[in-house]
Amino acid sequence: MPVSGLAPYDDANIFARILRGEIPNRTVYEDEWVLAFHDINPQAPTHVLVIPKGKYVSFADFSTKASEAEIAGMIRAVGKVAQMLGLEEPGYRLLANLGEHGGQEVPHFHVHIFGGRPLGRMVMPA
Ligand code: AMP
Repeated sequence: MPVSGLAPYDDANIFARILRGEIPNRTVYEDEWVLAFHDINPQAPTHVLVIPKGKYVSFADFSTKASEAEIAGMIRAVGKVAQMLGLEEPGYRLLANLGEHGGQEVPHFHVHIFGGRPLGRMVMPA
């Protein structure tokens, strides 16, 4: 069942297709819980997406339905990928777009990692 009125998980979404190997991706990290790959339309010198392998649409969906191991796996992977990309010392930004007002385009929960230049303050203009 969807959380907070969101649509149910759509198996045809582009990240589901990437996870099934139907669409290529530039993988930077993969483990039991997540896949991390370069965004196809980068908004910063480094722009990587980290997605859980489980079928979750939203943050509410993920945080309420995922197992503790999946949640830990996702959080640990985001930190690990940022470190692997050399972003720990200069710093970086994490972002998750959720729902309509959040501008979420792909209905599979994901975290963006941006880095490689000073990113300014907070929310970018629409
Ligand atoms: P959003 O749902 O708003 O957080 O954004 C989805 C992100 O997925 C955008 O930054 C897109 O550029 C990115 N994206 C869409 N299709 C692909 C793809 N095939 N490979 C990598 N990134 C993608």
